[in-house]
Amino acid sequence: MSYDVVVIGSGPGGYVAAIRASQLGLKTAVIEKENLGGICLNWGCIPTKALLKSAQVFEYINHANEFGITIGTPKADFPAMIKRSRGVAENMSKGVEFLMKKNKIDVITSHARLIGKGKIEVDNKGQKETVEGKHIIVATGARSTNLPFMPQDGKKIIGYREAMSLPKQPKKMVVVGSGAIGSEFAHFYNSIGTEVSLIELLPNIVPIEDEEVSKQLERSFKKQGIKVMTNAQVESVDINGEGCKVTVKTKKGSESIDCDVVLSAVGITSNIEEVGLKEVGVITDKGKIIVDEFYKTNIPGIFAIGDCIPGPALAHVASAEGIICVEKIAGQSVEKLDYNNIPGCTYCSPEVSSVGYTEKRAKEEGIEVKIGKFPFSASGKASAAGHKDGFVKLIFDAKYGELLGAHMIGYNVTELIAEIVAIRKLETTGHELIKTVHPHPTMSEAIMEAAAAAYGEVIHL
Ligand SMILES: Cc1cc2nc3c(=O)[nH]c(=O)nc-3n(C[C@H](O)[C@H](O)[C@H](O)COP(=O)(O)OP(=O)(O)OC[C@H]3O[C@@H](n4cnc5c(N)ncnc54)[C@H](O)[C@@H]3O)c2cc1C
Repeated sequence: MSYDVVVIGSGPGGYVAAIRASQLGLKTAVIEKENLGGICLNWGCIPTKALLKSAQVFEYINHANEFGITIGTPKADFPAMIKRSRGVAENMSKGVEFLMKKNKIDVITSHARLIGKGKIEVDNKGQKETVEGKHIIVATGARSTNLPFMPQDGKKIIGYREAMSLPKQPKKMVVVGSGAIGSEFAHFYNSIGTEVSLIELLPNIVPIEDEEVSKQLERSFKKQGIKVMTNAQVESVDINGEGCKVTVKTKKGSESIDCDVVLSAVGITSNIEEVGLKEVGVITDKGKIIVDEFYKTNIPGIFAIGDCIPGPALAHVASAEGIICVEKIAGQSVEKLDYNNIPGCTYCSPEVSSVGYTEKRAKEEGIEVKIGKFPFSASGKASAAGHKDGFVKLIFDAKYGELLGAHMIGYNVTELIAEIVAIRKLETTGHELIKTVHPHPTMSEAIMEAAAAAYGEVIHL
């Protein structure tokens, strides 16, 4: 078996790269050891959003009387929510299977290991076989990081896979780490009645976000009943009793929290150990494969994309890298990816989305800024929808009017951020944004109003 392109891993990096390669006329194969679609479709982006939708529906029903609807007391059916989420994931994976067939891409179900120049060893029902590829793209993704002082056993100390497939809803849960994954699970479990403590080592939750957004989310989480602890370090987890006892060190001293399960959401570790990278001489550093701006490793013919290389661990980044990598292989003239214009979203409630500079980073870099903020409490659409929490904050370069960054928290803001990414790509100025007519009533009007606020022209404040 010999191909122009062989992709190892079928996550959003791998399968998108394979489809683009096939579109460009390259004979392509994907080698995947689990389900097609990788973490994103099977254990990440999609099944978590299905669970969060269940939480949102439950919240709506709980607050139905606020919308003039009287109904009885609803009950969260946890196994049914898990079943729905798994079903959604399964369907998405089948969709990738269809796309592979449609694009005439060979799918090899096996663990893959590099064994020499252009050669990969696969397992065919116990028989070792060699697949040859002129260009090999490593897209092996990542897994949940296991901390030595709270090793995951899959039952009491769990990672994200178990968190979306537990057989029974925990009564009490401690979530360690408040990045996107930790915050989404904290919100989901709290919404359906689990008592949740969210523990963050740094001073703010969702620590990569603008500080004002982090503070607003912390207030919202606390209002929802989540116990949020920042500047807090888990020292140990004792699993010897019936449940778990988590010892947390804070500025005020040590505190002990009892719970049924601890979710470790402290980050991810790239899958680079079992791919034969060392044997063929591919350079790695700090657990990541080192690549150039077009995803070439130091070994000719071997490329890497997605969560196994440095950069933001996001599905849309992996896909964009896959497309660029393959277009370059096909000899096209390609623009490199602008890592400063990558949107990031957290799908808890209220949602969080952002792109570009935070206020802190702009100030640290000595850039003179103009900041405009518009609260959703002044938005007609937000009021009508019953979602007045949150705001849009835009950061402009005071000298040139360039939109340096955008930070949003509120209902549906993960859908609003794409406008900002396009504006930044097209180098639109603040004044052009103010003069861009937005439909009324929409949440998106808050973007235009925030721009107007930065220039002293806001109408609805
Ligand atoms: C709970 C959770 C929620 C998330 N939510 C979002 C979100 O909302 N938005 C977002 O943008 N990102 C989200 N992410 C991150 C996103 O899932 C990843 O960034 C994305 O999946 C990375 O894609 P990838 O192609 O690099 O690899 P992956 O999706 O990790 O896929 C890698 C694949 O390679 C396979 N593989 C590994 N080694 C081998 C081998 N040796 N041989 C054969 N196959 C192999 C694996 O089985 C896997 O299927 C989330 C992640 C998690 C865990």
